[in-house]
Amino acid sequence: MIYLDNNATTAMDPSVITAIAQELSRGPANPSSQHSIGRAANERLDDAVLRIGKCLSSDLSVPGGARLILTSGGTESNNLALAGLGLPDSPLIVSAIEHASVLAFAKAAEKAGRQVHLVPATPAGTINVAALHETLERFHSCTAVVSVMSANNETGIVQPIDEVARLCRSAGALLHVDATQSIGKLPATIDDIPADAITITPHKFHGPAGIGALWLASGVKVRPSLFGGEQQLLTRPGTLPVALAVGLARALELAVDNMLVTGQRLVELRNRFESKLSDGCNDLLIHGANENRLPGTTCASFRGTDRQSMLMALDMAGVACSSGSACSSGSSPPSHVLIAMGCPTWAIQSAIRFGSSRFSTIDDIDQAADCICRIYNRLRS
Ligand code: PLP
Repeated sequence: MIYLDNNATTAMDPSVITAIAQELSRGPANPSSQHSIGRAANERLDDAVLRIGKCLSSDLSVPGGARLILTSGGTESNNLALAGLGLPDSPLIVSAIEHASVLAFAKAAEKAGRQVHLVPATPAGTINVAALHETLERFHSCTAVVSVMSANNETGIVQPIDEVARLCRSAGALLHVDATQSIGKLPATIDDIPADAITITPHKFHGPAGIGALWLASGVKVRPSLFGGEQQLLTRPGTLPVALAVGLARALELAVDNMLVTGQRLVELRNRFESKLSDGCNDLLIHGANENRLPGTTCASFRGTDRQSMLMALDMAGVACSSGSACSSGSSPPSHVLIAMGCPTWAIQSAIRFGSSRFSTIDDIDQAADCICRIYNRLRS
């Protein structure tokens, strides 16, 4: 099987598996326990957290400074940020192309009485910055919470976070950035993502699923969404998974160390893939082809086909890809991202997402492109 669904999740790097296995084999590890075994686990957890901070150029050892809250993944980090930043009734401003974990939260919050504003996207696939500006002007008198992703999970289009951050700062709004898709792929120091809170999700960069993090800038507070023990200064109670935190740290170190080389290689693979698809498929539309995109992401529409038939035929032929974000029901609803970009119906109906990773090879790309063109031409006829 050729795996081109790396925006959904990635294979764990062997050295991450080794680091997790070594940590698991040490025996019981509850870092909140007072005995020496617990204290030793806590030291290893602290070490993992500091290493994660180092990768982000954020010193997490300073009391009262920036913090990292460990969670179960991107969905929980996003929910924690949106529920807990600012005041309980702070207006919530999110872009129309956010992940379901942001949009569904916003919908539920609106139903519960909170003011929610959806900022439209441009046809180029970015948040409409002028519309964000207008919305922020309206809420100048109260602290709004803004949530914008750093790169879109379906199109890979990189969002203008600098501009968004500048607008938020001058409006006195708090900014949460869902950096799930860009961390580990694009530079991710705190200077690169000037936000109050950042979501990190290691299963997108060859780390483990089941753990994520919410980075908080110095002085930024979040109210807890869960209640229980006193772990993580009461912000997110629950026994901490030391082995997964060690895996997160290792995966991030590897991603940061390899970022330049991997990024260049993935752009070359993507160019090769897209030019093969364009040669072999008439009426192909590559979304954001001229935009700044994540190195390994291609979102393309195949006119004259529907995405479900393409996906099933590709799966049977040995190519794993997707029609947008992975959905728990296994169905493929039309992409809200392409709808927000104003794409024509045929393009929404026939959109497929391909995502490569540092484990993808030229052979994978060539074979997948041949297979896609063959299946497209067969289905179309
Ligand atoms: N945000 C974005 C942009 C994503 O792509 C995803 C996962 O696809 C998530 C959040 C949710 O992350 P998780 O699967 O770790 O809950």
